Amino acid sequence: MVNYKDLGLVNTREMFAKAVAGGYAIPAFNFNNMEQLQAIIQAAAETKSPVILQVSKGARNYANQTLLRYMAEGAVAYAKELGWEHPQIVLHLDHGDSFELCKSCVDMGFSSVMIDASSLPYEENIALSKKVADYAHQYDVTVEAELGVLAGVEDEVAAEESHYTRPEEVIDFSSRTGCDSLAISVGTSHGAYKFKPEQCTRDPKTGRLVPPPLAFDVLHEIEKKLPGFPIVLHGSSSVPQEYVDMINSLGGKLPDAVGIPEEQLREASKSAVCKINIDSDSRLAMTAAIRKVFHDKPGEFDPRKYLGPARDEMKKLYEHKIVNVLGSNGKA
Ligand SMILES: [Zn+2]
Repeated sequence: MVNYKDLGLVNTREMFAKAVAGGYAIPAFNFNNMEQLQAIIQAAAETKSPVILQVSKGARNYANQTLLRYMAEGAVAYAKELGWEHPQIVLHLDHGDSFELCKSCVDMGFSSVMIDASSLPYEENIALSKKVADYAHQYDVTVEAELGVLAGVEDEVAAEESHYTRPEEVIDFSSRTGCDSLAISVGTSHGAYKFKPEQCTRDPKTGRLVPPPLAFDVLHEIEKKLPGFPIVLHGSSSVPQEYVDMINSLGGKLPDAVGIPEEQLREASKSAVCKINIDSDSRLAMTAAIRKVFHDKPGEFDPRKYLGPARDEMKKLYEHKIVNVLGSNGKA
């Protein structure tokens, strides 16, 4: 058993309180490998932004839980080496689907866990979320729970139908579970294909899909019910068209990939939304950069020569999100 404090990590409590009060959001970037982690830490250290390193169940299986714990510890040391004196880095489990998984992460040095029981009936969601919160709080680990269902596919999380969070349930849910933050469904979606073409309109000039807008009315109603309570948005990649175009022009095939426009995420950041999850965008940046190297230099076979540019591209993306979308730069 190792506590996150021994790894130099922090939980989300204080950073969320500041973000809600300050009208910005903390980036939660998913990672599976060293290059992603390097890019995240470099971007956060250079912009002095608090950051959440997010690990899904799939990523944990992919990377190995023991290795991850040392990677997170290494990330803190690396951040200091980059001149970030007091790094504010959270290690967070994304979409924990059982008490056992959440407990295991708490015991392995995670400073924050998500229990996603949103697909269960309401009372079962409350019971499981509360069980996780009660356990995690003994070790001062913060807990995110979810109410409402997002569409899309993310690792093992998949839902065909979405439904918005019901504002009339949020007070009861948050007080009975004791969760520290609440993931809600207001029209974001997992993956790089967030909306089906029939849900969108098409820009007549570019032929590109224009997604339906986020349900800001639902978000504001939730805010009114829970003043100052930290709200989380999942599935909030923007799916930058320049990366999609690059991938498609270099032999890839991502037809009609579409995300959440950044202006809407910027607007959400100013509200009680204090954590925004971004995963697909960094996958796209990485894939675009690697495809470019393979296209331009077909003889290249040194992984550093394609993973290096991929890392640089991801870092650029993370910095852009921090500075231009979430507004968390200079807050750590
Ligand atoms: Zn998610």
